[in-house]
Amino acid sequence: MTKHIFVTGGVASSLGKGLTAASLGRLLKQRGLRVVIQKLDPYINVDPGTLNPFEHGEVFVTDDGGETDLDLGHYERFIDENLTRDSNATTGSIYSTVLAAERRGDYLGRTVQVIPHITDEIKRRISALASDDIDVVITEVGGTVGDIEILPFLEAIRQFRLDVGRDNVCYVHVTLVPYIAPSGEHKTKPTQHSVIELRSRGIQPDAIVCRSDEPIGDNLARKIANLSSVPAEAVVNAPDASSLYEIPLVIHEEGLDDVICDLLRIDAGPPDLTEWIELNRKVEAATSPVRVGLIGKYVSLVDAYLSVVESLKHAGIQLGADVEIDWIQAEDVEGLLTEDRLRKLDGIVIPGGFGERGVEGKIAAAGYARENDVPCLGLCLGLQCMTIEYGRNVLGLDRAHSSEFEPSTPHPVIDLMDSQRDVTDLGGTMRLGAYVAQLQPGSQVAKMYGEEVVSERHRHRYEFNPRYRSQYAGTDFVCSGESPDGRLVEFIELKNHPFWVATQAHPEFKSRPTRPAPLFLGFMEAALQRAEGRNPQLLAVDATIDA
Ligand code: GLN
Repeated sequence: MTKHIFVTGGVASSLGKGLTAASLGRLLKQRGLRVVIQKLDPYINVDPGTLNPFEHGEVFVTDDGGETDLDLGHYERFIDENLTRDSNATTGSIYSTVLAAERRGDYLGRTVQVIPHITDEIKRRISALASDDIDVVITEVGGTVGDIEILPFLEAIRQFRLDVGRDNVCYVHVTLVPYIAPSGEHKTKPTQHSVIELRSRGIQPDAIVCRSDEPIGDNLARKIANLSSVPAEAVVNAPDASSLYEIPLVIHEEGLDDVICDLLRIDAGPPDLTEWIELNRKVEAATSPVRVGLIGKYVSLVDAYLSVVESLKHAGIQLGADVEIDWIQAEDVEGLLTEDRLRKLDGIVIPGGFGERGVEGKIAAAGYARENDVPCLGLCLGLQCMTIEYGRNVLGLDRAHSSEFEPSTPHPVIDLMDSQRDVTDLGGTMRLGAYVAQLQPGSQVAKMYGEEVVSERHRHRYEFNPRYRSQYAGTDFVCSGESPDGRLVEFIELKNHPFWVATQAHPEFKSRPTRPAPLFLGFMEAALQRAEGRNPQLLAVDATIDA
């Protein structure tokens, strides 16, 4: 019988509920259990694909092309398993299913209501993950207890325990224990209130994870236990950690996984944390400074590039590099070309994006990196900008552009494929999810991957325009990876440059802390080399700036 753990949040959002769920997943996996994690999101969008990254952070793409919540990225990185689109359900997608069934007449004339029809569909989504080869399903309920939108989800998870039996379900509540500076104390009242709110929906938490800035101490934990009717050992404290990779070790130290295994009557030995402890050791040992410029459009919300940043960290950890990210607003790049800010960079990443704003800055950054031998990694839109840059400035293709941004360009080096042109539903034209690429033997990318057939996840509409392949051929610009039928360009690289490499895919979605994505590893190696070899003149400039 598959066991279910439901993770809810109280008091405030952004407490790291997703990381708690992910960490718990890792601990259970290390006990030999087969774990899957899912996020239920109370918002009405059918999926996060259309959400502004400014507002909601990055859209995480799964192998099967699901456009999902960024918490799925934490789950995949922590449990080191590929998830599917089924691991994310929003209110919108649940209503869509119910409404489609209603239109088909499946409800036989009955009144369709939140209870039982919406709640039944939520329960169906939860059960759908509990296949024979899964021991534990962890379900994170997005939002905070007390939100209006969350009510059907709480009702569904309350009923779920009745449906599958007491010993097969447990509820973990993640709350905030704030520090009130004037009184010099951590306060339990918000946690008490959020537990009361949860109970008013019929859910008694089995365990409480108290998030705090500093450790709260046993007395407060006991007080929370008493007031919440939770055994003392089931109140665990997770103070802010210096690295998110510490979280599994912290909550294990606090005994959360033991408590949960007891509650769910899971008979599994202690977790084997060797690999995870080694990871944390490497994090501490990663001290060689490397400065990477991330040329972004959404730099004011770092979550918009969460997987890219994580992938850079993974590569840094592996190579002993302490990665510092300089968040550069793409529109500012042209004004910075002669400034020290760019000269101080050991590498440049041009990430993905949609919409015209900032594109010229990204193209300028690609040119700067090319001319100054700065390692440069292009991801999706990054590949497109690097292709445009080379077309304009080396091949002399006047005003070369992507037809996404300049429909009347004389040289659409990036364009829609003919097959996509007539599709009116933009959603239908996206290339989403895992696609295989064939790498050129002996190329830089083939060396990085160590194999010639690779699969990466995609999320884009535009492609390198095949009509321009011949103009790039025979130059230093090499199309070093293609779709198996040879029609689509998947990877590019530049001869006679330390690292000027890009992919039409998003390799950041497959990087794991213990298995960095090959392209990021190659990029970081080149950036480290540059950092180590930075010429003394430049270091002198650094010194004056810092002084
Ligand atoms: N806007 C570009 C396209 O749709 C790139 C998308 C991306 O970077 N994810 O092709």
